Amino acid sequence: MPGLYLHIPFCEKKCIYCDFYSIESFRQYDDFLSALHREIAMRADVLPEHTSFHSIFFGGGTPSLLTDVQLGGLLDALRSRFRIDEDAEITVECNPGTVDEDKLRGYRAAGVNRLSFGVQSFHADDLQFLSRIHTAGEAEAAIGAAQAAGVGDVNLDLMFSLPGQTPERWMHNLERARALGTTHLSCYSLTVEQGTPLANMVRNGMVTMPPEESDAALFDLTMDTLSEWEFRQYEVSNYAREGYTCRHNLTYWRHEDYLGFGPSAHGTWRGRRWWNLSSLQSWLDAVAAGRLPEAGGETLTADTLRSEYIYLRLRSEGIHLPSFTRLHGGDLLTAHRRYIDSCIAAGQLRLDGDTLSLTRKGILVCDEICAALM
Ligand code: SF4
Repeated sequence: MPGLYLHIPFCEKKCIYCDFYSIESFRQYDDFLSALHREIAMRADVLPEHTSFHSIFFGGGTPSLLTDVQLGGLLDALRSRFRIDEDAEITVECNPGTVDEDKLRGYRAAGVNRLSFGVQSFHADDLQFLSRIHTAGEAEAAIGAAQAAGVGDVNLDLMFSLPGQTPERWMHNLERARALGTTHLSCYSLTVEQGTPLANMVRNGMVTMPPEESDAALFDLTMDTLSEWEFRQYEVSNYAREGYTCRHNLTYWRHEDYLGFGPSAHGTWRGRRWWNLSSLQSWLDAVAAGRLPEAGGETLTADTLRSEYIYLRLRSEGIHLPSFTRLHGGDLLTAHRRYIDSCIAAGQLRLDGDTLSLTRKGILVCDEICAALM
């Protein structure tokens, strides 16, 4: 089932590691909101058919800068232009430094039923290093406020492989997340993205990143711990309690269609992918001129679709082989029999009935296995 994504490209302060498109100036915030409404209307007008959508995701940037009235207005615009399931999953990414219970009650009243908090760490020195705008106490209060506002489905983003992070410090973060009653965890290792302040700090020798072995050990610890606590790992970096997988993320990982709105948002629809202009000004100019603000697009070839399907499925629920054949032709098992057998013998892949998936050991060499099968 397809999903809808809205990119809100504003942040109070840029975090040192972040390479997402977001800006710190709010000068064009009102223009942005009006243009987002126009883009929603324009896209609805050119969409050849209106299937129903099962998820809406507000990402960013910092979508939780939206007031409840602004957020409700955008949801009304989507509902008036697209067919949205009654029980659609509606997620807002929140920076804990930008919400309180009143705002979250307003979000809930507008229809939001899932909140995703970028917490990253419960240690004050980590938060300071990452240049997050919130404290650990504010993060805990925000999660409590979400639950008090009636949103029980709460994800936390946590980050491991921070410089100097010990297994004990990482375990403290996982334990805090569990104690707060979260239903979903996204655990990513800190990566150094080109062009970020962190990349400069590493280059100048001000920061030393942990070695690969320590990253792998923390990843292993995460998988062990969360499986013991009955969080199911349903994607390499994502873990959910029973019944709380993220429907919107599954849209991406199942290689299903979605529409994206806002600067730098992407979309795919019926074999075509496009990406929006990433600079706010050029995106605003295009919408003001009555044009869809796309920077480019491509028709997805059979080869691209096949490779992406393998990559996305292996990283998440595994490849259901008959479905693969139906969608992409050919028999993956026969084509790669020797390689697949060697991975099974090495404990990296498993074949459960008709589904080929990665084992815990395979997840650690996931990119290599995907490349061999693509
Ligand atoms: S709040 Fe999120 S989107 Fe904004 S700079 Fe930090 S990590 Fe990036």
